[in-house]
Amino acid sequence: MMIPLAVPNLSGNERKYLNNCIDTTFVSSVGEYVNEFESMVAEATGSVAAVATSSGTTGIHAALTAVGVKYGEIVIVPSFTFIASANAISHCGAIPWLMDIDSQTWCLDYDLVEKEIEENCSIENGKLYHKKTGKRIAAIMPVYTLGNIPNMKRFRSLADKYNIPLVVDAACAIGAKYEGNDFGNLADLSVLSFNGNKTITCGGGGAVIGCNKDLLDHVRHITTTARVWPDYDFDEVGFNYRMTNVQAAIGVAQMEQVDTFIETKRKIHDYYCSSLKSLSGKGITFFARTDGASCWFSGIVLPEKFSLEDSKSICSSLKQEGVEAKTFWKPIHLQIPYSNAPKSCVSVSEKLWQRIICLPCSTNISDLDLEKVSTLVKDAIMTL
Ligand SMILES: *Cc1c(COP(=O)(O)O)cnc(C)c1O
Repeated sequence: MMIPLAVPNLSGNERKYLNNCIDTTFVSSVGEYVNEFESMVAEATGSVAAVATSSGTTGIHAALTAVGVKYGEIVIVPSFTFIASANAISHCGAIPWLMDIDSQTWCLDYDLVEKEIEENCSIENGKLYHKKTGKRIAAIMPVYTLGNIPNMKRFRSLADKYNIPLVVDAACAIGAKYEGNDFGNLADLSVLSFNGNKTITCGGGGAVIGCNKDLLDHVRHITTTARVWPDYDFDEVGFNYRMTNVQAAIGVAQMEQVDTFIETKRKIHDYYCSSLKSLSGKGITFFARTDGASCWFSGIVLPEKFSLEDSKSICSSLKQEGVEAKTFWKPIHLQIPYSNAPKSCVSVSEKLWQRIICLPCSTNISDLDLEKVSTLVKDAIMTL
């Protein structure tokens, strides 16, 4: 039996609420669970409201559209992210400008963004343009990598200074805190994912959150076909991105357990850091973790002299022993569809991703399995 990397923990009211959807026939986009799920997500993130979507990707697409990202414009985003961040930008017809992360937080490097804007962009008629291409900079989109929150005060004032929207890909950040507070008000819009491997799952799903009620109302409008009720009137090109009641039924049962799930995720991170401490002699370090991070994934980082091949061989030897371990996000600039995307310095991303090994971190992992993983990782590293 394999100890999986990250599987859903469906030990709560999931089955009961799903049965209720079937019993009441509310399986589609109208239903009490969607509304309840939105309230729970808004409450848990300190947002004025949440708009539930069919996925994190569609949520980001809707959020970028709502803040005015258009065809041929540029969105600044880290190269070290899941490809959905870049895809959602492409779905707007826009272009991701790929930038590096900083090695402390594994999130978008603020200093680099500021430098690139100051040196390579200019303001005309109150709008920010990339000088060489003449394309408008339509948004900055940091990513809360692993549930780490970077210095958002600085991103906020930079975005305000140049009058550009700040949207966050907070796909894996449910439960994270920033200076002890919720993160729902740190950007114009932030987007969560409830995909199967996230800390809280709906099977698939997402949510757009924020602190501007009008903007969120607009997101709700465009994610539900931009219909003006009661007749078949539509006032803009909308999307069919609404979450269904079936997804939300699972989500409500999951959100009932969010505090314990986050606590467990943080304990798993702590466990690996302490049980594998002896590997520091071998140069092994651990995943970046900011204050208040929600620790979506945990694992180890090999020292600089190692390569992707070393990481892969450790993963496959662990697999033979019954432990599912995996490499992590390959940067976007190395992906086929984005090989020509504009990029600034991306060297931290490029060096880091090759040496990351994600270890099992499901919220229902047993202490015995954690010990087994830890012992096998030590064995694997010692043979390096
Ligand atoms: C999971 C994830 C997404 C995509 O969310 P989906 O719900 O799978 O569409 C986007 N960005 C990041 C950083 C993610 O981790």
